[in-house]
Amino acid sequence: MIATLVAAWCAAAPPAHAPYEVQPVVPGVHVVMRREPPGLWFDSNSVFIVGARDVVVVDTNVSPESARASLAELRRITDKPVRYVVNTHWHDDHLAGNQVYRDAFPGVQFVGHVRTREELSTTGAENRKQAQEAGPGFAKALRKRVEDGRSLAGAPITDEERAAYLSDARLVERYVGDLPGLEVVFPTVEVAERLVIDDGSRTIEVLHLGRGHTGADLVVHLPKERVAIVGDLVSWPVPLVGTTSHPADFASTLQRLLGLEASVIVPGHGPVQRDDAYVRLVARLLATIRDQTAAAIARGETLEQARKSVDLSELRKAIAGDSALRQFAFDNYVAGPGIAVAHREAQRKD
Ligand SMILES: [Zn+2]
Repeated sequence: MIATLVAAWCAAAPPAHAPYEVQPVVPGVHVVMRREPPGLWFDSNSVFIVGARDVVVVDTNVSPESARASLAELRRITDKPVRYVVNTHWHDDHLAGNQVYRDAFPGVQFVGHVRTREELSTTGAENRKQAQEAGPGFAKALRKRVEDGRSLAGAPITDEERAAYLSDARLVERYVGDLPGLEVVFPTVEVAERLVIDDGSRTIEVLHLGRGHTGADLVVHLPKERVAIVGDLVSWPVPLVGTTSHPADFASTLQRLLGLEASVIVPGHGPVQRDDAYVRLVARLLATIRDQTAAAIARGETLEQARKSVDLSELRKAIAGDSALRQFAFDNYVAGPGIAVAHREAQRKD
């Protein structure tokens, strides 16, 4: 009996050195949660929704190698086939493992927003080209910073930064190493607003709640279980507001997400949220960027002037605290691109 229990436990546990853990969220829903230290380069959480007949997978990691590890975890949970893969958006860290599921499950459908195909073919292709060219140098620069004991901001490096840089360097190198074999798998089912999947045991809604992290974000919502799997509309420990984000719409999209009243929110990166406090904080941040940038434009300010007048210090403190790493990430993944894109978008509206 004990041997059986031990065998069952071993079968259910990922290897001790694995850079992820597998967390049941509600019955039948499991998150492969990344546990690399938060940094500047990312793998994504991947979610399995196990139904009566088959499985829905949400997001497929940053590389085929990483997706194969996630798929091995799915195989420890169930031998049911994967019927749908939903990509919450078209960034490679959520989609580069699609080919692993395509090869393993003939007939699997890939669900993406209607703009995914075009984004993948244009900006996505350009991003990959840039990563191929600049990735190895970036990884080398990170390792050099660790050797020299200086952070990217030029200060003495902290333990948190050292761990993050080394982990980031490994992630970048693995991603770039996988790029030559990467096949882009486009959506076979395109969603403009809403798709409902009945998996035989529950209702799964795939929703576009508006533009935010990208113009093509999808949320997977389990209304009965009150679970929302939200991709990079929510990222921890700092939000991700990049050059392909829409800061003017992002806050309202998060308000719609809050309107779902999910009690479990699975972010694209970071731990499962059991309340909406972090999402509310991020929504407040995005609304502040939107409103203060619009006010700066109304005063006739240039982007450089707006960068000085938009005051995010209180929210930077609330989100990044005293961590030099998180402050750097906030400046580079929120304030910098966020104000620039908000400025550009607000001008376009005038
Ligand atoms: Zn993303």
